Amino acid sequence: MEDVYCFGGNPLDRASERRDDSGWIAKLLGDAETRVLALRDLKPFTRGTAAPALDWQPVAQWRDQIDGGAPLIFLGLADGRAGLGDGRAHFAIDAAGADVAPDIDTELIDVRALAPTLAPGEAAVLAEARSLLDWHARHRFCAQCGSPTRMTSAGWKRSCPDCRASHFPRTDPVVIMLAVRGERALLGRNRRRAGARFSCLAGFVEPGETLEEAVRREVREEAGVRCGRVRYLAGQPWPFPSSLMIGFLAEALTEEITVDAEELAEARWFSRDEIREMVARAAAGSDDPARPSLPAPIAIAHHICRRWSSGLDGL
Ligand SMILES: [Zn+2]
Repeated sequence: MEDVYCFGGNPLDRASERRDDSGWIAKLLGDAETRVLALRDLKPFTRGTAAPALDWQPVAQWRDQIDGGAPLIFLGLADGRAGLGDGRAHFAIDAAGADVAPDIDTELIDVRALAPTLAPGEAAVLAEARSLLDWHARHRFCAQCGSPTRMTSAGWKRSCPDCRASHFPRTDPVVIMLAVRGERALLGRNRRRAGARFSCLAGFVEPGETLEEAVRREVREEAGVRCGRVRYLAGQPWPFPSSLMIGFLAEALTEEITVDAEELAEARWFSRDEIREMVARAAAGSDDPARPSLPAPIAIAHHICRRWSSGLDGL
């Protein structure tokens, strides 16, 4: 099996073939076993302070909001993993404006801060909920005729009552790559980020190109380096708001760097040993602002660098 990083390994069976069965969905919402995760401003309700966990609540607690039409999404059926029970249905609800019952001790925590502390797989469920609720909040009108649309298919579609168009949640593919040349690899430092934080180069896939072409284009545009062979490593959902990170190694054919000043403050070649040391510091959370550093393990860039610096070759 492939490597799975934070926001991957979703343990829910999405039962997509049953989303249109409103009778089945209503039955799940009447089941005392069913659990609901509320998010407000895209931040989940949590329980506990020392080790916060997602606050999965019985559906009865949210009955009024559900009946009142609050955005509600069927996330899937648990399969016993991530401590979510076996066969139990899970929903997400947008709790914007909802009164929280006084006996619910809730703290809203930003997904990026919370995710690394969750059980494996649970962050993936949170990513699913966050991306979908965000999409609904920003796609309330028909892109074809401008009429207000309504949520259908248990939250997996928006339908236009006027022109009959269907609109589906989008996922934006982003290629992220480590260009390597022998024992060295290319990292960039973003203009928008302070300090000495380096990372893999990355960019959105554009219409009319393959993933491999997007990898070569991004490295050439951002650093002026030409690439040849490209090898897929792993993917990662990135719910800010709805990207799919697609990780690659790329074989650099040239060395000279010409930085695109709009995107990067700097790009540099690092040796395998240097990157291995940066990975170790990032994994330990011991950032030294004066030295080049890498993203924490929440990010796929960390793992691409870790895998290459610990001996992955085979481009
Ligand atoms: Zn329409």
